[in-house]
Amino acid sequence: MSPDTTRPGRMTADEARLRLERERDTRLAELQAAAKGGWAADDHVLVVQKETVKRVLEEIEAAFRRLEEGSYGVCPGCGAVIPVERLEILPYARCCVPCGRRAA
Ligand SMILES: [Zn+2]
Repeated sequence: MSPDTTRPGRMTADEARLRLERERDTRLAELQAAAKGGWAADDHVLVVQKETVKRVLEEIEAAFRRLEEGSYGVCPGCGAVIPVERLEILPYARCCVPCGRRAA
């Protein structure tokens, strides 16, 4: 679409916001499906899954805050710019892959 064929090193704020919103919608739909009885409340595995979705939603909110602050897409561990490829898969990624591995 764009005449510029080189990919920018950083995802634009607009693009990041779009991806985060889409991700949030997906997770919220999952929670709603769970609330409607799609997931049995007494099933331990599904309760854990629900907690995971909630945690992801918190991560997404944190990513929105980083977008506002202008620190989105920059690893707090080493200061490196998080590769666009990683943000496309994980738009709420907090840090780069090496730092993520170190923290895990
Ligand atoms: Zn890092």
